[in-house]
Formats: sequence, structure tokens, C-alpha cells
Amino acid sequence: MPPQARLTVDVARLDGAGERLTGEIAAAALDLGAGDGLVEPASGVAYDLRVERIGDELLVRGSAAMEIACVCSRCAESFRMRVAEPGIVAVYPLAGETDFVDLTPELREVMILSFPRYPVCRETCRGLCQRCGANLNRAACRCTARDTDDRWGALDALAAGRKKRTGDAAAGRRAGKRAGNSTNT
Ligand SMILES: [Zn+2]
Ligand SMILES: [Zn+2]
Repeated sequence: MPPQARLTVDVARLDGAGERLTGEIAAAALDLGAGDGLVEPASGVAYDLRVERIGDELLVRGSAAMEIACVCSRCAESFRMRVAEPGIVAVYPLAGETDFVDLTPELREVMILSFPRYPVCRETCRGLCQRCGANLNRAACRCTARDTDDRWGALDALAAGRKKRTGDAAAGRRAGKRAGNSTNT
């Protein structure tokens, strides 16, 4: 079955038992492009919903899921993932003249809310080196070790300057102890 463009409920046709609606809506019909280019739809939106008329309201419950293509916000690699909303609950008031209820906007909103704001290809992604741009998931770059040393060097210089200004004896003792440690290791 080809993906549909909209999902509407024919309220007049609903009986007391309600109805189960399953199918797929074309992603293009939902206009899901997040705009930042980090997340793009890679499939239609598959839905599995139960619709019931309760008094003057239409109750909609169920789930929706889709595949998305992402760019990792740390390492810039492309990857795909599945996003799902398992707990859709929506209520639509049914005025006297309501024949159809359009569930398309609800599905659109639910899917957009399920998109990751900062997609990451995996929890342990190391990202790119700030200096040379190397992908640190593949190999450590040459600047890593030196950068680390520089950073500690700068901190040490700062700390030393502060101690000199305050002339604190305790700070002097601590610095002496640390100097001893670093010559040992
Ligand atoms: Zn990554
Ligand atoms: Zn590097």
C-alpha cells in the first residue's frame, strides 16, 4: 500500500466500539524538514491508532514511528535511527457538524517532538578534534597529547601566578607538595 497524504477519521462511520487505524503517511506530506539539516525523514510515518467516540469527543490513542537520517552533531558522520512515540493521546471535540477529524497535524507534531535536537551517532562518539578536524572515532590525532599538556601547563601557570600574588603560606606548601609529586611520576 503506498503511503497516504493525510489521515482523517470518518466520524459518522465510527460505531461504539471505535476503530483501529494502521498505515503509513508519506513524510513529504507532513513537511517534517527540521531546517537545520541535521535530521531529515528517511521513511514515511507508520501509525497504529485506536479512535473512539466518547460522548462529544473523539479520543485517539496509539503510537507512531519513522526512520530518520541524521548528521552527528559531534563527528558530522551520517547515520540513521528510528524514532517513535508510543504514547499518543489526543482528544478532539466533536461539534454537531463534524464529519471528519484530520489527525495529520497531530502525527506531524508528535514526530517532530521525537526528533533528537542534537543527534549523536552513538553515546561514546568522540567527535572531531577542535584543532585539526580529525574524526577521533577513527584514530587519535597527533595534536591530542600536546593539547592536553598545553592545557595543564596554562592552568599551572595561572595557579602559580595567583599564589605569588597572595603569598599564602599554605598555598606554597601545597605547591611544593605537588612539585614533589610530579618529579616522582
Ligand atoms: Zn558521531
Ligand atoms: Zn587534532
